[in-house]
Amino acid sequence: MNYLFNKKSNRTKYADLHLHTDQSDGKLSPEKVVAEANRAGLSAIAITDHDMLDGIEPALSAGKKYNVEVISGLELSAEHNSEEIHILGYFINWKNKRLKERLCEFRELRYSRALKIIDKLRKMGVSIELSDIIDQTETSYIGRPHLAAALVQNGYADSISEAFQRFLGNHAPAYMPKDAFLPSEAIEMILEADGIPVLAHPGVSKNNILDELIDNGLMGIEAFHPYHSIPLSDYYCDIAHKRNLLITGGSDFHGFENNKNALGLIRLPYEYVEHLKAVVNERQIKLNLKINN
Ligand code: AMP
Ligand code: FE
Ligand code: FE
Ligand code: ZN
Repeated sequence: MNYLFNKKSNRTKYADLHLHTDQSDGKLSPEKVVAEANRAGLSAIAITDHDMLDGIEPALSAGKKYNVEVISGLELSAEHNSEEIHILGYFINWKNKRLKERLCEFRELRYSRALKIIDKLRKMGVSIELSDIIDQTETSYIGRPHLAAALVQNGYADSISEAFQRFLGNHAPAYMPKDAFLPSEAIEMILEADGIPVLAHPGVSKNNILDELIDNGLMGIEAFHPYHSIPLSDYYCDIAHKRNLLITGGSDFHGFENNKNALGLIRLPYEYVEHLKAVVNERQIKLNLKINN
C-alpha cells in the first residue's frame, strides 16, 4: 500500500501536500478536508486547489481548530506542446494582488469555455445548463469535472469517467481545449507571490522539459504521487538529489473516487516539509538583510 509509510522508521509526523477542496474541483469544503486530515493522523497538509486561492483561508482557520498545520498552496494548469503540465506552489502569498487578478482572468476564460462545451453538447442533442452547475458548486472555477457531474445527473452518462469517455475527454466530441499558462509563466507567478514552484506528478504528463523548468526557476518535484510506482518515485528522488530540487508528495485527493487518491494515501515524512520551510526562512532572512541595509 503505502511505501512511504511502510519504510521502517520511528517518524511520527507525516504530511499530505496535494489536496483539492470544493473551491476548485474537489468535493469537500476546506474545513472538512482539514477534519479528514486530522482523522488520518496527518500533522501537516497543503491545500492545492487548481487555479484558486479561496480555500486557503478557511483551511488555515480549520487547521487551528483541528491542530493540523495547513500550508498555503495552489496547482496551476500550464501547457506545453498541447500537453498539460501542473505546477504546484507552496507557501504562496494568497493575498498577492497580481496573482489574484491573473487567476480571476483565467476563471473567466474557463467560464466561456464551459459555455462553448455546452453549446457543442447541445448540437449533439445533449442538454445541460450552466446555471445548474453554478447553483450546485461552491466555486467560480468551472472545470470539466463539473460538466461531467451534470451529464451524469441528467442521465447522459452513468459515471464521471463515462462522461469523459463519451463527451468531454481529450479525444471526445465535445472536447474544448482550455487556455493555459505557459509553464514558465506559472513558475514566475508562483515566485512573484513568494511561493515555491514544484512540478506536480511528473509521471503523469508526457513532457520532458525538466531542464527548461529548472532554468525557469522550478525548485522542486512531486516525487510521491499515487500514480507513481515505487521505482518511478525513487527515480524522481534521484533526479531531485542530482538537480538539487526539493522533494514533495501528496495524494491529489479530490474527495470523489475510489481509493486511488484517498487523503493520506501518501504520507510524506515531515522532514520534507522542513526542507520547504528552510527555503521560506532563508528568503525571509535575505529580505530582512536587504531591508536593514
Ligand atoms: P479541465 O481543467 O477543466 O480541463 O479538467 C481537468 C480535470 O478533469 C482533471 O484535473 C481531472 O480531475 C479531470 N479528468 C480529466 N480526464 C478525466 C477522465 N478521463 N476521467 C475523469 N476525470 C478526468
Ligand atoms: Fe482536479
Ligand atoms: Fe494535477
Ligand atoms: Zn491535483
